[in-house]
Amino acid sequence: MFILRACVCLMFVCCAAAAQPLPSRGATGAKVDYHVHVKGDLTLDDALRRSRESGIYYGIVINGGLLLPANSDAGLEAFLREMQGKPVYAAFQAEGREWVRLFSKRTLEKFDYVFSDSMTWSDDNGRRMRLWIKDDVGVIADPQQFMDMLVERATGIFANEPIDIYVNPTYVPDQLAPDYARLWTPARMKRIVDGLAANGIAMEINNRYRIPSAAFIGLAKKAGVKFACGTNNAGAGDLGRNEYCAQMIRECDLRPEDFWSPAADGKKAIQRRPLLR
Ligand SMILES: [Zn+2]
Repeated sequence: MFILRACVCLMFVCCAAAAQPLPSRGATGAKVDYHVHVKGDLTLDDALRRSRESGIYYGIVINGGLLLPANSDAGLEAFLREMQGKPVYAAFQAEGREWVRLFSKRTLEKFDYVFSDSMTWSDDNGRRMRLWIKDDVGVIADPQQFMDMLVERATGIFANEPIDIYVNPTYVPDQLAPDYARLWTPARMKRIVDGLAANGIAMEINNRYRIPSAAFIGLAKKAGVKFACGTNNAGAGDLGRNEYCAQMIRECDLRPEDFWSPAADGKKAIQRRPLLR
């Protein structure tokens, strides 16, 4: 009886597994989420299970940079060891502009890709800001001037830092978000898009913040910028199924050839471009 029950159980599990499309390395479009954080209430086992269930291949990300737990090669190497043999991409998220002096090319090139955003930088008075933290940003008295500074910093990152993807792209602090469409003028959008195209950097389509806008994506597509779907989840609750990215694929008529995929060894940004300038 026990054996019979075990067999029935096993058959059920096998059938259930066979019905799921298994995510695969090399998938593209909304079949990959390149920006998944194992944090909050999301464990690595949860992430692997959800990847299997959704059929979406994940890039699991470690954040590294000044003032973060991972601020040297040792922290990154430990993460790489943990990811070894798992059916995921191993990704590095560079936080803040100091990262180029904290980590070595030798360690960074072991990742499938490296990315960063334009959410941590110092303003013209030397005040280091994380744009998603209210107290860091304070009240923005002159949004136009702030946007010019944001464009300046973002394009500086594209020109100087060897990253594969620009993530949380075009993010503006909460207090400016209602004016996103007005503040991202055609001239500002063009500078971002041209900077990405000139440096061979892909643009994330971010599910959590639902950015960039369709207008921005359309402009980037015209310039030949490649796209990557990503979430930047804060925990288990906001890790979905690339819903915003799928919506943008339809609205902007993005084709498989419009999508980025991790470069072969030897062609990663960290291998194509100098770490330090
Ligand atoms: Zn992130």
